[in-house]
Amino acid sequence: MFHKMWKMKSTPSSLIYGWRAFQDRLPTKDRLSRVGIRLQNSLCCLCNSNEESVEHLLVACNVSSLIWNICDKWFGIQTVHHCTPIEHFLGFCHTGVVGKGFRMRGIVWLTIISLVWKHRNEIIFRNGVCDAVEVFAFTQVKTWAIIKAKFDKVVFSFSEWCIDPLSCIKMSS
Ligand SMILES: [Zn+2]
Repeated sequence: MFHKMWKMKSTPSSLIYGWRAFQDRLPTKDRLSRVGIRLQNSLCCLCNSNEESVEHLLVACNVSSLIWNICDKWFGIQTVHHCTPIEHFLGFCHTGVVGKGFRMRGIVWLTIISLVWKHRNEIIFRNGVCDAVEVFAFTQVKTWAIIKAKFDKVVFSFSEWCIDPLSCIKMSS
């Protein structure tokens, strides 16, 4: 599993977030209380209605689900969302693409989870406002920049990437 993730050629920081998500090593509120750290509340700061666990925050939360749904619409692909981060990662990366496309989908997945985690920290530590659309917009910019930098023969423009990412991936695979 980790071998598959490292092959994604994503940024080192997003690979570390992915690795920590798979191992339940992100300091989510449920994990902090398990190790005896007292918190004001255990609620997810994105939805304010469920306990914050890694599965909830990255996959099941209404806000992260909205981001995954917008991403599905962007790609024109339907993926399964109610599962663990590892299952979600595999389902997401394997849907609709083959070969190098698997790695590019992996970059999108790793970028979304690292941006959701950073957004969560922005809300908790800097009084940020929860904004799923902003996270998604940043995902489009960041994934395009990473894929352009990491893969040879990538000729699509940022606007082509925004309009039809699946064709861009197939064209480059
Ligand atoms: Zn939530």
